[in-house]
Amino acid sequence: MSEPQNPFESLREQVADAATYLDVDPGVVRRLSTPERILETNLTIERDDGSLETVRAYRSQFNGDRGPYKGGIRYHPKVTREEVKALSGWMVYKCAVVDIPYGGGKGGIAIDPADYSEAELERLTRAYAKELRPLIGEDTDIPAPDVNTGQREMNWIKDTYEALENTTAPGVITGKALDSGGSAGRVEATGRSVMLTAREVFDWLGEDVSDATVAVQGYGNAGSVAATLLDELGATIVAVSDSSGGVYDQAGIDPQAVKRHKAETGSVTGFGDNESLTNEEVLLLDVDLLIPAALENAIDRELAGDVRADVIVEAANGPLTPGADDVLADRDVTVVPDIIANAGGVTVSYFEWVQNRQRFNWTEARVNDELERAITEAFSGLVDCYEEHDVPNLRIAAYVVALQRVIRAYEQGGTWP
Ligand code: GLU
Repeated sequence: MSEPQNPFESLREQVADAATYLDVDPGVVRRLSTPERILETNLTIERDDGSLETVRAYRSQFNGDRGPYKGGIRYHPKVTREEVKALSGWMVYKCAVVDIPYGGGKGGIAIDPADYSEAELERLTRAYAKELRPLIGEDTDIPAPDVNTGQREMNWIKDTYEALENTTAPGVITGKALDSGGSAGRVEATGRSVMLTAREVFDWLGEDVSDATVAVQGYGNAGSVAATLLDELGATIVAVSDSSGGVYDQAGIDPQAVKRHKAETGSVTGFGDNESLTNEEVLLLDVDLLIPAALENAIDRELAGDVRADVIVEAANGPLTPGADDVLADRDVTVVPDIIANAGGVTVSYFEWVQNRQRFNWTEARVNDELERAITEAFSGLVDCYEEHDVPNLRIAAYVVALQRVIRAYEQGGTWP
């Protein structure tokens, strides 16, 4: 039987697997595998040609036991209710594993933003912000960027919220531009934690990441920054890909030059005179480190049998199915799970929010130092748990650490009414 490709089922399985290592009431596990509430709404906007269009949008607030709901907003044609539920749950465990005082949420609009003009995207984003307004707030639910959204969309949401609330509340959303209350280092933060966890895991395995060959699947913000920072450490980026395909050069690819090529042409394909590869071929290269940095379910049980990388660091959310995890653990491939590897994004979102609340800006050096401390401490906590509980892989270790923290917060608050 083929395994489920519903990311929400993957999340439930990950939580259930971790719970087997803990003495916990099954009722609490059910609560922590179920979203608290989901907004499902339709946004109507006027297209540039005067026609009206209605699109589907969501916001899932999965769990708030440790603090305000926190998590990004994605614009993608494959956004569904099930996907948003899963992504919001992963945020709960991500925030808990790096021990920042947030719960988890996620939102999305089911569109391909490439089909819309900038003016249309602004109308759509403001329509979405209007729907979100009763749910979000500096102390309640704090959105951020995710796939295909960035500073521009965050600035519009902040502006819409502040206008409707007749206040200033920069901490209502993170990932803003610097002049709109953003933080130094936020754009690079996700890729930076991918680099930091790659460095830590190689060190743990008794190796040095600067000697590693690296393939990166997905060349958006997370993938391109991770490639650049690993290249700066001395690692060799031999392949990168995006949804149109990939390029390969055993001697190494300049990550910044590919990024410029993608900015100019829309894709990494056709960069220099490098060999071209399909997306799947990039995942199956014989490299020391593979970084899936695109979407969920990139590697399933079947593909996992053919993966030749020694280490996988997940920059995307949910790129490996639970079946892939089982196969890779049996084959001794070390996987650094998404909820720590890409947690740099939300960690620096937290720093942005702290700066917004204090109305006091940090230097980029301070942001990067605090991020490094948060990620390296979280990684060593996870390794301790892996060794202590004798769990099969680092993902289960991460969920055990995170679940313990969420359970404690829930139990300390108690069940009410
Ligand atoms: N979308 C990012 C994630 O999946 C960042 C979330 C945030 O900063 O709140 O972790």
